[in-house]
Amino acid sequence: MMQNPGPAKILRVALLGNPNTGKTTLFNALTGLNHRVGNYPGVTVEIKKGRFSWNGRQIDLLDIPGTYSLAPRSPDEMLSVELVLGLNPSEPKPDLLILVIDASNLERNLFLATQALESGIPAVMALTMVDVAKKNGIQIDQKKLAESLGLPVVEVMALKREGLEELKKTLVAQFQKAPCANGVNFPALFEKKETEVLSLLGTKASRLLARRLLLETDGYLAKALALKKEIPEIAGLAQFQEELRASGLNLHTLEARTRYGWIKEKTAPAITRPEIPVTTWTDKMDRYLTHRGWGLAFFLLIMFCLFQAIFTLSKPLIKWINEGKGAVGEFLSNLLPQGMLASLVVDGLVEGVGSVVVFLPQILILFGFLAILEDCGYMARAAFLMDRVMVFCGLTGKSFIPLLSSAACAVPGILSTRVIEDKRDRLTTILVAPLVSCSARLQVYSLLIQAFLSEGRPFWFPGFVLFCLYGLGMVLAPLTAWLLKKSLLKGKGMPFLMELPSYKRPSGQVVAMRVWDGAWSFMRRAGTLIAATMVLVWAVLYFPHQYPGGGTYPERIATEKENQTKNALLSEWKSQSYLGRAGHLIEPLVKPLGWDWRIGVATLASFPAREVVIGTLGIIFGIGQDENEAGQNDLEKALRNARWNDKPGGKPLFDIPTALSLMVFFALCSQCVSTLVVIKQEAGHWGWALFTFVYMTVLAYAGAFATYQIGVLL
Ligand code: GDP
Ligand code: MG
Repeated sequence: MMQNPGPAKILRVALLGNPNTGKTTLFNALTGLNHRVGNYPGVTVEIKKGRFSWNGRQIDLLDIPGTYSLAPRSPDEMLSVELVLGLNPSEPKPDLLILVIDASNLERNLFLATQALESGIPAVMALTMVDVAKKNGIQIDQKKLAESLGLPVVEVMALKREGLEELKKTLVAQFQKAPCANGVNFPALFEKKETEVLSLLGTKASRLLARRLLLETDGYLAKALALKKEIPEIAGLAQFQEELRASGLNLHTLEARTRYGWIKEKTAPAITRPEIPVTTWTDKMDRYLTHRGWGLAFFLLIMFCLFQAIFTLSKPLIKWINEGKGAVGEFLSNLLPQGMLASLVVDGLVEGVGSVVVFLPQILILFGFLAILEDCGYMARAAFLMDRVMVFCGLTGKSFIPLLSSAACAVPGILSTRVIEDKRDRLTTILVAPLVSCSARLQVYSLLIQAFLSEGRPFWFPGFVLFCLYGLGMVLAPLTAWLLKKSLLKGKGMPFLMELPSYKRPSGQVVAMRVWDGAWSFMRRAGTLIAATMVLVWAVLYFPHQYPGGGTYPERIATEKENQTKNALLSEWKSQSYLGRAGHLIEPLVKPLGWDWRIGVATLASFPAREVVIGTLGIIFGIGQDENEAGQNDLEKALRNARWNDKPGGKPLFDIPTALSLMVFFALCSQCVSTLVVIKQEAGHWGWALFTFVYMTVLAYAGAFATYQIGVLL
């Protein structure tokens, strides 16, 4: 029995429930924080904490990964199970559970609840999705339900902030009381063995753990816990199970039969269903949207519209930012005395970081669009549609969700693989997720498409090219997965069952939050990682600056009147800089891709993050341009005017094959330190990060080479 720890103690409360039941939404509503919600599994894969108070009582709220059962199968589920069992070394057992129960799916949700009640932790039930249940014609009598389950039930609508006060009040009150006692009874022999196991478990004992250990025939939990030395080895466990089997019990079906039997009996008086199941809007739409042919066509259409929107909607905004960047540059160059500092600030920081920030509007559109698709319930359908493709590659639809979220950024995509049970499937998904084009690549594509593939072409063309580039990753990722599953990571995947949430109007708040999150992390990156790299790039391009004829290059250029000589000096300066020297060294390597040394070093410099290439090009092609041109600061124009190796009147540096080969390179390369770090973290070994880097770089080089060579032939 729980003790009353006195008023000073902060209550620890955990939200436990199936995936998609609205736990994170409730968490956000209670704590005022803004954690990411999403209507598919894998959004919350870590324990998130927040605090609120009620009547002077401090409450720590934990949002934990959703799970269908406390029989863990994947790393994210294990986290929840350990927490409830009080076996998580860094998180003590919560004082109270909020069982978050989806009213439109009451029985299935209660399965988890019956398990949780056996943990001995007091609990309160929060009934969510009551609106959905009503639409499906399901009525739940809250009072009767509370009576027959023996625990308080509170209806909440977290999005509308309804029922929150009631929930808080109930929490604090319930905490003072004993945990509910009327649990599920298992057959007598089973309960006898259970008592024996309980006595062996010592301090960590709970009915829940004893039952889990007896019921698990593959020993996943027992092994995992024994490995972490959390519980003593239970020597006689296998023999207990043998005895139970001998008495005619089927350990595979026993739990479901017993629990669902109990649930049916207890909920029958509280729930009324329509005589004929209601055909909802969702059912009607899904007839088309999850159809093999129509569904796929619709998916492609939606993606196509997304890429169109990215170009057309962002145009005016980009123009403003460009003008703003020009104005800031001009203001600062008038303010600062001419010299190294001015060059660092104007040519390095403003030009480099500014060239990247220009793409903010497109990032916002991408994130906004993805958030809308997600929140209205469509993303889950996309995963469902792709299940067949993924099965063909030896994976399941579960792997598609991480791939799809990688379209914004591979880091959350890779984190969301924690929902995948099978170790090899999970590793395969981690390794191929970075092939999917992310928002950093969007910027590279967008720059080059607008510079070389949009003028004088039909309005849909730029969007179409973007669609194809994204398509390249979306095709290569499953293909690579297939190869990996055939070779390094052989093994059979597990069947995949995914729940499709009902369609709904996307919540403005949720979408706004996602867009804001995206914008914020983009700007933070621009201000830190990108800015730092830009300073570095500027420095290796600025030094050495000794002019062979005496003085320095900048001084020499400042005194020169002839524009042509000025440009020649500038080009000479860049070419003999550290960056230039490195560039000439690698030029033979990148020439077959159609690049000169400047593109080569810009690519090399973008090892920390792909968007660095834009800033680097901005610095290389923008540095010291004469006043009026620099004032406009139009990188696209500078790229269009660039000549091969900066030779005046020489052949243009960029033609279409060169632009395409650069885009293909960036589509396939793994120039992103954050991704490599998260791969190391999730795969558990640096070797896998290295493997990803090597295979993607080889793939990128080969892809760019083929693109350029074929492009030139055509
Ligand atoms: P979690 O997986 O349990 O953390 O669920 P989320 O909090 O991420 O919510 C899943 C989805 O359900 C989101 O799209 C929410 O906006 C939505 N949602 C949450 N609560 C309710 C509710 O009471 N009614 C309806 N209709 N939708 C809800
Ligand atoms: Mg969540």
